[in-house]
Amino acid sequence: MCYPMFLSPAGKDYLWGGVRLKYEFGKQINLEPLAESWECSAHPDGPSIVVNGEHKGKTLIKVIAEHPEYLGSKTNPKDGFPILIKFIDAAKDLSVQVHPDDDYARIYEHDRGKTEMWYVLDAEPGAELVYGFEHPVNEEILRIAVNNGDLAKHLHRVKVHKGDTFYIRAGTVHAIGAGLLIAEIQESSNLTYRVYDYDRVGPNGKKRELHFDKAVKVLNMEPVRDIRQRSRIVHHFPGCSREVICRCQYFEVEKVNCLECYEFTVRPESYQVVLCIEGNGSLGDMEFKKGQCILLPAGLGRQKIVGRNVILKVRS
Ligand code: ZN
Repeated sequence: MCYPMFLSPAGKDYLWGGVRLKYEFGKQINLEPLAESWECSAHPDGPSIVVNGEHKGKTLIKVIAEHPEYLGSKTNPKDGFPILIKFIDAAKDLSVQVHPDDDYARIYEHDRGKTEMWYVLDAEPGAELVYGFEHPVNEEILRIAVNNGDLAKHLHRVKVHKGDTFYIRAGTVHAIGAGLLIAEIQESSNLTYRVYDYDRVGPNGKKRELHFDKAVKVLNMEPVRDIRQRSRIVHHFPGCSREVICRCQYFEVEKVNCLECYEFTVRPESYQVVLCIEGNGSLGDMEFKKGQCILLPAGLGRQKIVGRNVILKVRS
């Protein structure tokens, strides 16, 4: 019998993280800092664990291996769970980085590539991120800039506000800036090539490894053209409003503002994931609150959310 599975995340203590996921999103993870929580993950580097029902205590990797039908007909069960959903708390700047696409990742890393999207949960005044290059660059220009510590002059910076969305195609240079709290939906991959890390040292007194040679093989060297976010259309229904905030070949993300109730159907084509980002409510007879993540297996059928909350709903 399939049922809505509440997930408990894996945590990451990367050096740039903060404490907001603990105090504002209720993450009971004993890490300091707490940079990321992998809310819905079947990635071996940090799988989530089911906390209720028949599969209680199992990793999502195990559950999907036992029940590939939970994925739905759109996903090839041989490929496993296709996406990864995280919260990210950037107290400090993240490294300037790039991710490979599927073709490169398959050949050289035996993994998926990583295209990702961000929904900005909160942004301190003036918070920025890096998105693409300011002007055309090449390997030589980048190598000199990294060695001189002045890569910033080639990077395109964007002011960020709460509620913004960004789509980061594999190959795009990017960096999340200090003061941003983000929900990330991505392909299930942990391939990151660090281009520049501000010459920071970790707790062990060493700089983190850079992956310049790999990065230049996958970087899109063209300047960023137009990153203006398209205006989004909100559809109003009795009791809730909904807007699709990202649709690509890997995932669809819908933001639902539930004022009273919201009904939807989980069809046989795909699982769905509910990530609560504000407020609280109930799904069937189960209560949820801000910060929690629920996986709904494909074909689960009609569902009803009641309460006052904002959720991101993700599917393949
Ligand atoms: Zn990234």
